[in-house]
Amino acid sequence: MTMKDFDFATSGRILFGRGKLDVLSEVIKYYGKKALVIKGKKFPNADKLLEILHRAGKNIQIFVVPHEPDIDLIEQSIREARKSQCDFVVGFGGGAVVDAGKAVSALLNNPGNLIDYLEVVGKGERLKNPSFPYIAIPTTAGTGSEVTRNAVIRVPKSRVKVSLRHAYLLPSIAIIDPELTLSVPPPVTASTGMDAFTQVIEPYVTKFTNPVVDMFCREGIPLGAKNLLSAYENGAHLEARENMAYVSLLGGLSLANAKLGAVHGFAGPIGGMFNAPHGTICAALLPAVMQVNAEQISKVDGEEKKVNRFKEIAEWITGDKAATIQDGVEWISSLAASLEIPGLSELGVSSSDFASIIDKSKRSSSMKGNPVTLSDDQMERILEMSM
Ligand SMILES: [Zn+2]
Repeated sequence: MTMKDFDFATSGRILFGRGKLDVLSEVIKYYGKKALVIKGKKFPNADKLLEILHRAGKNIQIFVVPHEPDIDLIEQSIREARKSQCDFVVGFGGGAVVDAGKAVSALLNNPGNLIDYLEVVGKGERLKNPSFPYIAIPTTAGTGSEVTRNAVIRVPKSRVKVSLRHAYLLPSIAIIDPELTLSVPPPVTASTGMDAFTQVIEPYVTKFTNPVVDMFCREGIPLGAKNLLSAYENGAHLEARENMAYVSLLGGLSLANAKLGAVHGFAGPIGGMFNAPHGTICAALLPAVMQVNAEQISKVDGEEKKVNRFKEIAEWITGDKAATIQDGVEWISSLAASLEIPGLSELGVSSSDFASIIDKSKRSSSMKGNPVTLSDDQMERILEMSM
């Protein structure tokens, strides 16, 4: 068998495990005196983080992100960060906060405004200089943002979410401590968990499959299927939380190196147009995308291996060797129902939005990874089935 070429990049160091936040005191010895901490508003564990920084003798400046950060808020934090003369940045929160930290640490060492570097709404300039040292500490299990090379930024004025994208955005250090996710409330566990689950499924069938990523997906898909509902039903279940934190990490490693597919191709534009959690949108779309993708790919000659991958996914998630692709699709629908995840219509989408969603989705980076190129009609069918 000839080996497929691959390219794989990730954060400089990944530290994973229960109570791992404590190693921060070791890690920061190598950095300067002043830390800029970007954190969400509602994270009780931030006290522990600040205590570790204090004990290590660091000066701390805190920037609190009160809600999912948008471009104005991130621009504001960049201005404050530039004045702060900090030596390194710590991002502590959900995926959006971790992403905000990436943008801030990048713009600390690059001239101009954030908008200059954004795709779609800005000039799309490339970052010239490496980011400031950045330690990413996620407190939810979902985006895997601690190991990805993009930061998703909401631009309310244009009703879009766009990415700042560069290898310089890979954090210097990722610390994943599953204990930090114990206090995440059930609806957030459901949406972030479905994001993580989708992010190990889509890279396994993308156009850009990668042998290293395949290993992560083979590990992450059954693990996500087995643990998400337990973490949702019993938030204190540390083993389920730990497994979901691992699935989230595997998803981040996978999407950063093999891209995603139509679920994320649609979820980006829908997330910009409607105020719904990213993972909830992904969950609403995943069954229909899987079904239509599998149908279309089985019509293409020479794609038997790809069809087989859909079959493998169905077997892993159902735990049944005889499961069909359709069984897999139905299993995911019923998981989403158990997690009380609504369809797109309840999230505010109506059929009159389809044309605009399809138009924007076709241009998204994730859609380019989809295993087959979908026609407008097929996209419309997916949206219709996901309502
Ligand atoms: Zn996602």
